[in-house]
Amino acid sequence: ATPTAIMVGTGLGAQRGVLVKNAAALEASARIDTVVMDKTGTLTKGEPEVIDVIVDGIDEAELLTLVASLENESEHPLAAAIVGYAAQRGVVPERPTEFRNVPGHGTTALVHDRRVVVGNRRLMDDEGVDASSLVARRDELAASGRTAVLVAVDGRGVGIIGLADAVRGTSAAAVAALHEMGVEVVMLSGDNLATARRIAGQLGIDTVLAEVLPGDKAAEVARLQQAGRKVAMVGDGVNDAPALAQADLGIAIGAGTDVAIETADVVLMRSDPLDVPTALRIGRGTLRKMR
Ligand code: ADP
Ligand code: MG
Repeated sequence: ATPTAIMVGTGLGAQRGVLVKNAAALEASARIDTVVMDKTGTLTKGEPEVIDVIVDGIDEAELLTLVASLENESEHPLAAAIVGYAAQRGVVPERPTEFRNVPGHGTTALVHDRRVVVGNRRLMDDEGVDASSLVARRDELAASGRTAVLVAVDGRGVGIIGLADAVRGTSAAAVAALHEMGVEVVMLSGDNLATARRIAGQLGIDTVLAEVLPGDKAAEVARLQQAGRKVAMVGDGVNDAPALAQADLGIAIGAGTDVAIETADVVLMRSDPLDVPTALRIGRGTLRKMR
């Protein structure tokens, strides 16, 4: 594009809080045909809240104490929500030993010689937990769009914490606007497939890549590129940074982590998903002026 077109394009973006870091980003944005959106913190507010506490053969206060003791050591948003919920109920976490954080899965530790596992189904399998008594309830929660965190003590499933993360008010409109521009929208998530599908359905997204490990998000973007797509990735988390770098255009949510903001080509200062189609439109307008 001509220097004038680039100045006009970046200026238009800046007026709307769409910070385009360089001319290459503006040109890339004109060619995007696929937008991959992270679920948590991008399409949703990233502020999960505990909605359900399900117990099986354990007292609820005891369950919350064990879970909060592990999650107190974790920096995951789900952990923060659970610790806050437990604190409101007067639970005082204990200091666990042998604490282990398993990215994309959950946490394990010993609390007073009891082996506690908190996380998803895969973690339960890897830790040799019998979670069969919890599976039906978990599936129910997931089908309603909740993130279900399973809890096991000494090898047996004893409870589930169900969390909900509200979708951002403009996420559905952003998806519709992208579709209208002929852009395919893909949801990417580390969460359970049923949970992700439910939320994608609410937003009108038909392609869902779920249960993707933090380290595998960039590879999913690369796979789309190998299939000939021009991919924009929209994300907020530390985990999203490699995928933002891999994409033809990395777009960070302004409220996201510093790493995501530094890695991205475009930053949405208002953290509004509707600014994704805006960014692509500005790119298309700039490219048109260059011909
Ligand atoms: P997302 O991509 O949705 O931010 P992650 O990749 O961080 O999710 O985690 C994927 C899944 O692993 C979560 O939905 C949750 O089930 C489980 N998980 C990860 N960390 C924790 C934790 N600290 N406590 C409980 N569950 C966790
Ligand atoms: Mg996220």
